[in-house]
Amino acid sequence: MPLPRGYISHSQIRTYNDCPRKYFFSYIEGIQPPVNEKLFLGEVFHSVIEKYFLLRIGGAQPGDEAMGDLFASTFDEAEAGRKISWQTPRRETRERGLAFLKYFLKHIAPGIRPLMVEKELTAELPGTGVVLKGVIDLVEEDFCITDFKTTTGKWPESRATNPPQMVIYKYLFDRSFGPVPSTLKYEILYGKHAGNIRHQTLRIAPDAGAVEGLLAMIGHVVERIEEGAFQANVTGYCRYCDFRTLCRGNGGG
Ligand code: SF4
Repeated sequence: MPLPRGYISHSQIRTYNDCPRKYFFSYIEGIQPPVNEKLFLGEVFHSVIEKYFLLRIGGAQPGDEAMGDLFASTFDEAEAGRKISWQTPRRETRERGLAFLKYFLKHIAPGIRPLMVEKELTAELPGTGVVLKGVIDLVEEDFCITDFKTTTGKWPESRATNPPQMVIYKYLFDRSFGPVPSTLKYEILYGKHAGNIRHQTLRIAPDAGAVEGLLAMIGHVVERIEEGAFQANVTGYCRYCDFRTLCRGNGGG
């Protein structure tokens, strides 16, 4: 079975490693469950800061009020025609998103020198013909690669140890532009309520063997997908799975 999208990506790898059956429902069957408000807010935030960085790259200095208006219109447009599962009410979610943006504009954006934004990169993996694809949130003038996250709580430091997403970005960046000295970091905005937004910078320094380990893991995942191996991985997290009703009917979690 060929890869359903014609390439492999970090989100596909993460989904397959979480649960091969979840991968089947999501990528082979193409089932799109309603998105929850946390994912939705992440999408809106990324879309707004993408527009912000494009303006900055074009030489503009967008003000806070204009960015607030942009957030409101982006939120409304992204919501139109979508089924969103509001586990936190819409109004609170919107306020929290605006608070993330205000925090970003005040504390993070002034120190950033954007060079590329939402940069899509691809590379064929050696000796396999498999295409690896990634979209990098931000590359700065010093080639610092940044991925932004919006979440409810601080991340543990352990998440900075060879995270596959960042190792993939660095690998794709070096394959596309040649090996260049560059740093990697997550900028994590977190808080459960609009009145309590905080921020964490998590710097990533991949181990010497991180790329080899990553390529071996990707090769294994691709092989299993091509074999059609989509067994259920039943764990305690199944109760949070968007496909649990479907899965039960197929003997899974
Ligand atoms: S309910 Fe559990 S076993 Fe079933 S698809 Fe979801 S994560 Fe996998």
